Amino acid sequence: MENTKKDMKNIVNHLKNSGFVFQSSEIYGGLSNTWDYGPLGISIINKIKRAWWKSFISLEINNVGLDSKILLNPKIWEASGHISNFSDPLIENKVNHKRYRADHIYEEITKKNSADINIRDLEHFMKNEVKEYDGSKTDWTEIKQFNLMFETFQGVVESNKQSIYLRPETAQGIFVNFNNIQRSLRLKLPFGVGQIGKSFRNEVTPGNFIFRTREFEQMELEFFTFPEQSLEDYNYYVNKSYQFIVSLGIKKESLKIRVHNEEELAHYSGATSDIEFLYPFGWGEIMGISHRGNYDLTSHNKYSNIKLQYLDPSNNNFMVPTVIEPSVGVDRLLLAILVDSYNVENIENSERIVLKIDKNLAPYKVAILPLVKKLSKESLEIYYKLIENDIDATFDETGSIGKRYRRQDSIGTYYSITFDYDSLDDKKITIRNRDTMEQERILISEIKEYIK
Ligand code: ATP
Repeated sequence: MENTKKDMKNIVNHLKNSGFVFQSSEIYGGLSNTWDYGPLGISIINKIKRAWWKSFISLEINNVGLDSKILLNPKIWEASGHISNFSDPLIENKVNHKRYRADHIYEEITKKNSADINIRDLEHFMKNEVKEYDGSKTDWTEIKQFNLMFETFQGVVESNKQSIYLRPETAQGIFVNFNNIQRSLRLKLPFGVGQIGKSFRNEVTPGNFIFRTREFEQMELEFFTFPEQSLEDYNYYVNKSYQFIVSLGIKKESLKIRVHNEEELAHYSGATSDIEFLYPFGWGEIMGISHRGNYDLTSHNKYSNIKLQYLDPSNNNFMVPTVIEPSVGVDRLLLAILVDSYNVENIENSERIVLKIDKNLAPYKVAILPLVKKLSKESLEIYYKLIENDIDATFDETGSIGKRYRRQDSIGTYYSITFDYDSLDDKKITIRNRDTMEQERILISEIKEYIK
């Protein structure tokens, strides 16, 4: 069996045709770089989110959950630095009228990090060193700092409308609730607060399918700790984050941890590591773990005049905790899982597409396939029994058994169960494994145990 055709175009076509991801607003020509998740896509996403919540909140005895809003008081974004700093250097080539991120072009050409070059030097570099780009001669405009936040308006009376932003990260909703959470639950440091939710960034160069979009979902934990303990906690969460991604079935050889060097670090950050995945278009960040110091809480203390702080019972002094933040995008994680599990195999001169996705994440764990429609009633009884036992199952009665096996392989269903005429008498069914394609005959009464 050989593995071929693992390229983005084939994968995207497969995901669209089999109900994982659709172009958003398709009947109106779509909305650029916007995708909807179909029935199979949302099934995996729900499982990813449950796995994250279990790992980062429920299994960490000191961590709790939160659901803050997408629309927040705009002063939050002043304090966090997003209004003044959250921007990308946008440049346009007047020859072909295309827009680019100047920092990306600089990195591509020099292989250096753009964090160590200021905007004036970047503009000088573009005008003097980049005379041809993207198959065109160049005539560059000035660089424009393009803020990534989506601005909208709140209120109905025209004159009273207030400018407001869609959140570009979920983290700030956690920081501003620090006192509420710590005091209402009487939490002792260190503790973490996590949430899952949509974030929005008006990205200059969205693309690569669901890798970089303007609306996406994040799973973020803010872990509040003592400064002297923070490096240890940072290392703990780098390691935990990596293990979490591996636990979802992504192969270790498709992953790497990239430690940011000094110049790359945000001014407030003590250390940052990214966990990257080798997508068909190159290495890309799935998850970032940063040591944020006490920058966010201190900044809100200054802007809000409310003290977000902790009374340390060991010495009765107030202190501002240090924060460790593991942050991961649901959409990028989903894409990594799908790319990593997509396989095309040649079996007896025919092609088999198989998603070798972890059986606990697959859209369905089991497919129930009556040999003929006449046996549907008895097969459906098995289906409902599995569903009642919280085992994700699907039911398919159309087409030959061989074709139905292939269809289930291609969407990652781990077991296929065939109910045939003999099943009526011997109360046994044939159960087939997606990866080995081996089949076994077992008693209907033993299915649940077998699967679990
Ligand atoms: P990048 O450098 O790729 O723009 P980032 O470093 O700005 O990402 P963070 O601000 O650290 O990203 O956000 C945390 C996580 O949110 C990322 O690791 C990624 O998984 C996800 N994420 C960020 N921007 C997007 C986006 N535009 N589309 C999809 N996911 C995103």
